[in-house]
Amino acid sequence: MKAVFFILVLLFSGSSAFPQPPDGVESTSLGDYRNGKLVNGWRLPRKGKGFLYFSRFSYYILGNANVNSRVYRTVTGACEDLKTAYPSRKFIIMECANKKGGKMLLHRTHQNGLNVDFMSPLLKKKSRPKYFRGLGIFRYLLNFTDNGKSKINPAVTIDFDAMAAHLLTLDKHARKNGLRIKRVIFKMELKDELFSTEGGKRLASKGITFAQGLSRMVNNAHDDHYHVNFEIIP
Ligand SMILES: [Zn+2]
Repeated sequence: MKAVFFILVLLFSGSSAFPQPPDGVESTSLGDYRNGKLVNGWRLPRKGKGFLYFSRFSYYILGNANVNSRVYRTVTGACEDLKTAYPSRKFIIMECANKKGGKMLLHRTHQNGLNVDFMSPLLKKKSRPKYFRGLGIFRYLLNFTDNGKSKINPAVTIDFDAMAAHLLTLDKHARKNGLRIKRVIFKMELKDELFSTEGGKRLASKGITFAQGLSRMVNNAHDDHYHVNFEIIP
């Protein structure tokens, strides 16, 4: 059984991307992030201008890269836009939703296609530590100190400037697509570092709110990535 599984993984991960263009039918998100569904979900490309999906396993085997069509345009548009300010950086998308939404392995709050996890952008001596990219789903296991240094390599830190720019650009594209960022989940102890950057100071004025009073488990899980919860503007 194990062998079959590994052959499947190899088979699927061998090709760079299976084209699965959106069929043009807009998506519908039903319910909310904890109890919801996604109708006509659009699968994000595994890579595109300024972005990369973090894990072939999550993409091909688990099928977790689906979003609402509005979120699709928001996420891809924002990353393309960021290429001007960050030409050599790829923003890394983590888990989104199942093709039809609903419960996902390890995530209960990704049910209606309006939620996306993003890898906290990293810096090492002013460049990007590439090897962290290859971690795939194990990326979720990285830990950071309360000022954003990696616990396994203190030379690697969260790039709070890039993260703030990413959130501001996502907000800009969200609004073009009839969405807004309802809530960001990010480790509470890291927020002061984020808010002290130039871009971070503008987040509050855009009405982007951060979750407060998170449980210990949820709080500790959101240092290596941040969860963005979009909302359709009625
Ligand atoms: Zn999440």
